[in-house]
Amino acid sequence: MIRFKSLGSGSTGNATVVQARDGHRTTHLLVDCGLGIRVLDKRLQQAGMLAEQIDAIFITHEHADHIGCALSLALRERIPVYMSEGTWIGLGQPDFEGLLRIARDSQPIEVGAMRAIPFTVPHDSREPLQLTCGDGAVSLGILTDLGHGTPHVLAQLAGCATLLLECNHDPQLLENGPYPYFLKRRVGGGWGHLANADAAAIAAAILPSGLRQVVAAHLSEQNNRPDLARGALEQALGAQVEIHVADGPSGCGWLTA
Ligand SMILES: [Zn+2]
Ligand SMILES: [Zn+2]
Repeated sequence: MIRFKSLGSGSTGNATVVQARDGHRTTHLLVDCGLGIRVLDKRLQQAGMLAEQIDAIFITHEHADHIGCALSLALRERIPVYMSEGTWIGLGQPDFEGLLRIARDSQPIEVGAMRAIPFTVPHDSREPLQLTCGDGAVSLGILTDLGHGTPHVLAQLAGCATLLLECNHDPQLLENGPYPYFLKRRVGGGWGHLANADAAAIAAAILPSGLRQVVAAHLSEQNNRPDLARGALEQALGAQVEIHVADGPSGCGWLTA
């Protein structure tokens, strides 16, 4: 069984706990760690967990809203940290004291009862990876921070029952919003972030392979609204897919993939 909980989502900080259980073990993977360590400890506590229960950390890329306290948490709890070599270089090659594990596109990571498979996405960081997390029966796809869907992304997500999916912005709100011109181009470009309709198209493309649930994530506070993200997903997916929207500071409750 795969369960997961977003501890925070969007530019104020991204972190998601994914839990896999088989007959005799429970495994927790923390995907991204973009919060201060005291906030993270508090959110874990609110989720009914302790940091020491985390078996591994996976960092998708080096942007501040994803890396946060990863180094201090890893060193404090002696937790292995997976990231691409490019992400590690992008961070300035910090010393993880033997806890760093290099992740590569399509190379499975086995942690206890969980198998995570990272995959490359187009985003304006050095070597970003997003991932699927499975227990052999069901699979959760985590997909935030990418400018557009690619055939590779869609192939990796095929068969996912649940997606935690970036719905970053509404193009109209972005266009009319307060961001400076260069930032509007960056966010809305092919190496920035997904618009609601782009996200909905990705979800619709994998719908026939068994998609049952989508959690809209990484919503821009300035350039999106929960009802717009939900509306775009509902329009593309119809009534058979359950839709949730993760809240920026509090994420979402525990969900089963
Ligand atoms: Zn981000
Ligand atoms: Zn990013």
